[in-house]
Formats: sequence, structure tokens, C-alpha cells
Amino acid sequence: MPRKIAAGNWKMHGDGAALAEIDALMAANPAPSVDVVICPPATLIHRMVSHIGSHPIAVGGQSCHAAIKGAHTGDIAAGMLVDAGATHVILGHSERRADHGETDAMIQAQLETALSAGLQIILCVGETETQYKAGTTQDIVTAQLRHALPQSDAAARIIIAYEPVWAIGTGLVPQDDEIAAVHAAIRALLCDHFGAAGAEMAILYGGSVKAENAAAIFAIANVDGALVGGASLNAAAFSPIIAALARA
Ligand code: PEP
Repeated sequence: MPRKIAAGNWKMHGDGAALAEIDALMAANPAPSVDVVICPPATLIHRMVSHIGSHPIAVGGQSCHAAIKGAHTGDIAAGMLVDAGATHVILGHSERRADHGETDAMIQAQLETALSAGLQIILCVGETETQYKAGTTQDIVTAQLRHALPQSDAAARIIIAYEPVWAIGTGLVPQDDEIAAVHAAIRALLCDHFGAAGAEMAILYGGSVKAENAAAIFAIANVDGALVGGASLNAAAFSPIIAALARA
């Protein structure tokens, strides 16, 4: 069985005061059976890691450059995330694809670099609203995956997050059977690509996950957790999602 994972993407939210939410999350101690990963802005990674201490909450970055180092103003190297204490990195988020023109080829290169640095990758894929309406969701998602997945035997260090772009931050969520179909297609592709190890990889759903809909989403086959944006910003909203995953 894949591990259950609840990952929080804080995007460009949070400063030192937001570490109080981590205190509250640790105090709630939601569920040891769930791996919790928080991906704060880069400026908070080191402080958050120190703050967490020996508690098992992991900390991740939100992107990294494909190069190991160099003249890339404003970018972050995978090794720098590791140096700051991060163990994970989100790659291929739709906001990086849209805001920074990240292509499948760039994401594939970032993934290789992040693997070399020792990070675990949360690889995001998902269709736009136009692609959804055109009925091309599975084609888009599988093409994004095929482009990004490494040939190396890295299955144990890659987590997939299926995030329909139109569901992110909108309150909209696909029907259960739509999520099930995409996650089944992702599972089949992972097993085709990685063999038996593909069956052990966690596939997260992301897009407007809230305490109210979490249990229903986690009951869907091949949904092993969630990548959560808005509702991960405070412990009161995130803890019930983690608890729902533990019960699933
Ligand atoms: C995200 O940005 O990865 C995300 C899932 O956001 P939200 O939960 O706010 O829809």
C-alpha cells in the first residue's frame, strides 16, 4: 500500500508569524499514520525546519531550478533546499507552468536535478478548464507524466499530485468518478513505467480539498492523500483533512 500523504502548499503566503500554525499542527498531532509535508515560501524553510525539531512533519520547497548552481537570479537550486533542511520539493505546479512558462522538458530536468540532490518530489500534473471541457484530461495528464518521469529507479522518491487546474482555489472539484478515472490511469502508467514499484507510489488529489469534502475524496480508489493549498495555511483547517486521511 502507498503511504498516506497530506502535503500543504503555502504558495506565496506566510512569514515568521505563520510558524504559530505549525505549533498548532504539531499540538493537534493529527495522525502518525499520515506523512505530513508543508511547503512554505523559501524564506521560511530553514526557520520552519528548526521550529519543527524532531517532530515528523517534513518541509519542502515549491520549485527548484534544473541547474545545480549558476547565474539564475531569483531561482533556487535543489541543493539549496536540502541545505535549508527541506526533504521534498513540489515540481510542475500549474502556477509555475502558467506564471513562469515552465514546460514539461524543464520540469523533467528539474526532477532529475532534485533527485540527484536527494529530494523527494511531489510532481504535479493536471488539465486546464479548456482541456477538461474538450474531454482530453487523461491525454494531457498522461503526456505530462510521460515527459517528466525519469528512467531511473526512483519510484520510491516520487509522489504524483493530480491537480485539475480549474479546481485549484476555485471551490470546484471533479466528480468522484472523474477523479477515480484519472487516478486509475495514473496508476496504470506508473506500473507500466516503474513495474511493481508503481503500485507503491502515492497519488495525491489536489484542488479545493477542504475538511468538508476530504473524506469523500479519500474514499476514491487510488487516492492516497492530498496536495492542499488554501486549507493548509492554518492548522484548524488542515488538521481535519489529515484526520480524514488517517480514517480512510
Ligand atoms: C494547490 O495550489 O496545489 C491547491 C491544491 O490549492 P487549493 O487547495 O487552494 O485549491
